[in-house]
Amino acid sequence: MQNNTLASAVRLVEVGPRDGLQNEPSLQLSTELKIELIQRLAGCGLSHIECGSFVSPAKVPQMADSQAVFNQLMRKPGVRYAALTPNLTAVEHATAAQASEIAVFTAVSDSFNLHNIHCTTAQSLERFTPAIALAKQHNLPVRAYISTVMGCPYGGEVTPQQVADLAAKLIAMGCYEISLGDTIGVGTPRQTALMLDAVTTQVSVDQLAVHFHDTYGQALANILVALEYGIATVDTSIAGLGGCPYAPGASGNVATEDVLYMLQGMGIETGVSLEQLVATSHWICNRLHKENGSRVSQALEPLSGVKRGAQRQ
Ligand code: MG
Repeated sequence: MQNNTLASAVRLVEVGPRDGLQNEPSLQLSTELKIELIQRLAGCGLSHIECGSFVSPAKVPQMADSQAVFNQLMRKPGVRYAALTPNLTAVEHATAAQASEIAVFTAVSDSFNLHNIHCTTAQSLERFTPAIALAKQHNLPVRAYISTVMGCPYGGEVTPQQVADLAAKLIAMGCYEISLGDTIGVGTPRQTALMLDAVTTQVSVDQLAVHFHDTYGQALANILVALEYGIATVDTSIAGLGGCPYAPGASGNVATEDVLYMLQGMGIETGVSLEQLVATSHWICNRLHKENGSRVSQALEPLSGVKRGAQRQ
């Protein structure tokens, strides 16, 4: 049940270097660029950064150099540098790369998993068992992503109860946190509440995170609902990097700056500097030759923090 007790601090999980960049044309990405982005994000105060993934380079060429990224990264104490790992081999690579933690991923809907990872949801959990066991041997915390929590692009059925049951299974398998992903960004605040009503009866709010996409402009409203349920971990992407692969040209990940601006306005601590984040956001968009997907960064000039509108007056 919604408890209206907002956390005094929220942990932002920055997914731009992985979830964001993997949707950019790989020609524009160099290992050096990725490393500089990650280091700048850590410099902004972000303490949890998803840096790469150990998946098939043929399927995701943008992440083919994740091993080099992890190896060459200058690490800041206290920052978690995470890797996405779908199976046992990937965990072996992540361990060799000294990732701080790993993340496994599945979806509520079988049809999404069959398209994305070529197995059913139940089969995906079977793959995780040895992967999680190896991670535990190396004392690596394991996060789990659940996709399609409020809708599936392939029409697969998704109910709040299915999300809750899957989240509970992943916790029982040893994951410390479940990130609930609205992969196509279709959820509304009411749907978010219904989904969280079901999930929070089976999983504690301190083991839940939300990963909402802004495809339909609902992400901040849905995040606010999650905060009202006591959830205090939110996945975001600098400049909103990472378009929606199921709706070409549409927004995907909610922008870190937009969430941070809202949290600051609510008096919620994050440890992240908005000014530095906006500067980093403009820098990466310039390097990628793309428009900034953050409303806040569009409204603020890099570094100066001065509103464009104010300058025109
Ligand atoms: Mg995403």
